[in-house]
Amino acid sequence: MQLLLGFLFAAVIAYLAYHAHSLNKSGALAAVFTGTIIFGVGGLRWAILLLTFFITSSALSRAFKKRKQGLDEKFSKGHERDAGQVFGNGGIATAFAALSYFFPNEPWTWVGFAAALAAVNADTWATELGVLNPSSPRMITDLRKTVEKGTSGGISLVGTLAALAGSGIIGLLAVILPPTDNWTLNTGHWLLITFSGFAGSLFDSLLGGTVQAMYYCPTDKKETEKHPLHTCGTPTVHIRGWRWLDNDWVNLACSACGAFGVVVALAFGILL
Ligand SMILES: [Zn+2]
Repeated sequence: MQLLLGFLFAAVIAYLAYHAHSLNKSGALAAVFTGTIIFGVGGLRWAILLLTFFITSSALSRAFKKRKQGLDEKFSKGHERDAGQVFGNGGIATAFAALSYFFPNEPWTWVGFAAALAAVNADTWATELGVLNPSSPRMITDLRKTVEKGTSGGISLVGTLAALAGSGIIGLLAVILPPTDNWTLNTGHWLLITFSGFAGSLFDSLLGGTVQAMYYCPTDKKETEKHPLHTCGTPTVHIRGWRWLDNDWVNLACSACGAFGVVVALAFGILL
């Protein structure tokens, strides 16, 4: 019964997001799938965390449009998220929601879910708000080197603070709204989710600056994540990184890193 309600709720949200151009067709279908599991197996409080990520990241990607003009094409996709992006951002969180079905009274499923979302939320907030940094970002692998805004692997003060805030808000909601009142989550859990999520977003930047596949558009003479075609229609040329490691896999790794941090901490009995 809850699964059916979850499916209906997910379908409504995906439909609205599709109409608002936050998701394309494949993205909407992927959102119905992940939403059905998270809402249907998890429930309302799980939905609140997912929607916090989804709504704030969609809103931020539309905000500050003027500042981002000309930058958009550096990112591999526009505002409409496709299935790859939905699974890249939400795949690990969905897996934790599914695990909560088999381990119904285990807080690690919830904390892992929250940390997976905290990491992608941190990454999205950093990407979207980082463009507001007054000076050029620096490479995470070499802080003396400044790079153009929007470059994968570039980090800035504003972006870093945004990542902490993005992770912190998910951590805070996770602690205030545990799915069962049998669990008391405390400030320690909040800090754990926040820093684990933050670490995940740093891992994302590290992959972006090292092994993520990067391409070059000979027409615009610009580095891009887009492949096989650039926004201008020109075929892009591979210049560095592992060809299979696109932005979606990097997001999945970011989220896995966030979840891994809290699960290891819980396994070693650091909290709970
Ligand atoms: Zn081009």
